[in-house]
Amino acid sequence: MFDTIIIGAGPAGMTAAIYACRRMMKVLVISKNIGGQVIWASDIKNYPGMEFVRGVDLISKMSQQMKDLGVDLKTDQVKKISKNHDGSFLVEAGKDSYLAKTIIIAIGLEPKQLKIDRENELTGKGISYCANCDGPLFKGKSVAVVGGGNAALDAVEVMSKIAGKVYLIYRKPQLKAFGSLILAVESKSNVEIILNSEISEIIGREKLEKVKIINNVSQISRKLDIAGLFVEIGHEPKTGAVADLVKTDTLGQVVVDLSGKTSCDGIFAAGDVTQSEFKQIVIGCGQGAIAALSAYKYIQLKNS
Ligand SMILES: Cc1cc2nc3c(=O)[nH]c(=O)nc-3n(C[C@H](O)[C@H](O)[C@H](O)COP(=O)(O)OP(=O)(O)OC[C@H]3O[C@@H](n4cnc5c(N)ncnc54)[C@H](O)[C@@H]3O)c2cc1C
Repeated sequence: MFDTIIIGAGPAGMTAAIYACRRMMKVLVISKNIGGQVIWASDIKNYPGMEFVRGVDLISKMSQQMKDLGVDLKTDQVKKISKNHDGSFLVEAGKDSYLAKTIIIAIGLEPKQLKIDRENELTGKGISYCANCDGPLFKGKSVAVVGGGNAALDAVEVMSKIAGKVYLIYRKPQLKAFGSLILAVESKSNVEIILNSEISEIIGREKLEKVKIINNVSQISRKLDIAGLFVEIGHEPKTGAVADLVKTDTLGQVVVDLSGKTSCDGIFAAGDVTQSEFKQIVIGCGQGAIAALSAYKYIQLKNS
């Protein structure tokens, strides 16, 4: 029986683990990966005390601190959480299941998908959700980026230095990124911006070969020969594993109060998965600390 099981090892989950361990709680962290979205953040310039830090370096420092404190860590995906009659929780991940007195949900956000046929099948075979991670695989090749916000334009900027040709496909008539970023992308000779257009078909046998795009004004379609497709259309919470237990808002975000409590006694949540308006590393860390201290207090009160 763990005092707390923390689901997710992004900044919120890792901070919660550090705080819980320092309260001598028996802690298990279960996460699909270590670092969460910070893996994709190349340059971080707003983490207090560090003028500049690379995402991977910040993750490695946080995870080292967590491991040094003795946190038990399992790399797995939590599929289901249920509440037992005695108030404890059963967490199912892979083939294993674990018991805990409290749960901290810190599962963050996942990239939104296009939801087009063959997308899942060709993910990792040409389709990617992270230009910073997978970009170097497409040196000198033709690629496309989908999206019109800062993340999409960032991806185009990165890829314009690696790929031979970069198409930017956006469904609206105007990009919605920072002006400076738009100017930077427009000045690249190997970038073609295709507005008012959406991908209607993903084509390729073993790996991505082409996409068919359709102009939603003229209805004219065109095929692009590409080896890589970067989907940069935002992020969303994937709260399926806990949806039956805790209240979520219309966006699927977990509703918490100021102490990180959810609608279910004994379950706390922190970071981007909550309904907090601003999604940032330092905010996730703060909420992780609050959730851990609240879980500690919950156990103390139950024992008293
Ligand atoms: C490209 C990019 C750049 C950014 N740059 C900055 C920046 O410069 N400064 C800043 O402050 N913020 C930045 N952010 C935002 C910041 O990364 C997030 O606010 C922060 O990572 C949120 O932390 P989190 O722990 O709540 O969630 P996440 O970082 O999303 O971590 C969630 C973790 O939960 C795991 N998980 C999810 N579901 C399950 C499950 N069912 N079972 C087990 N594990 C699961 C995931 O694998 C992941 O490890 C950036 C984000 C992106 C995408």
